[in-house]
Amino acid sequence: MSNLPILILPDPALRIPSMEVPISEWSSSRLRKLIEDLKETMAIENGVGIAAPQVGVRERVIIVDSGQGPQAFINPHIIQKSFRKIESEEGCLSVPGVFGMVRRHRSVVIEAFDEEGRSVTIRAKQFPAIVFQHEIDHLDGILFVDRVTRYTKHPKI
Ligand code: ZN
Repeated sequence: MSNLPILILPDPALRIPSMEVPISEWSSSRLRKLIEDLKETMAIENGVGIAAPQVGVRERVIIVDSGQGPQAFINPHIIQKSFRKIESEEGCLSVPGVFGMVRRHRSVVIEAFDEEGRSVTIRAKQFPAIVFQHEIDHLDGILFVDRVTRYTKHPKI
């Protein structure tokens, strides 16, 4: 395992939408290594989530720790979102030193494949729901600063 350098805003690579991982790649040693390296990088950086494009790999892979340790999700899709939204403070490994309030769906249902290639459906509420939405945004080139309603910590405020 090795930790990978994280791309920092305004790196234009963070803005490019990522591609779906083809089924033939799911059990490849390359993807397994990417997942291990992402987990290691997230642990070293004390993150609760990380997305492959943050390390310059434009593929739809995210790692989320929703309390049971870091888990990988391949090709995640939000298939259901609550009408109700909640606002909470977010930060991002790619936007160091900046925090702000973001409104997101309070609960979401996500379909994805796990690192063994099994189809999984996740019902996430509150904090894990926010982490999933933040990480899936990265796969579409969206950063939390695009959605921020008010900065709580910013070098210029
Ligand atoms: Zn982020």
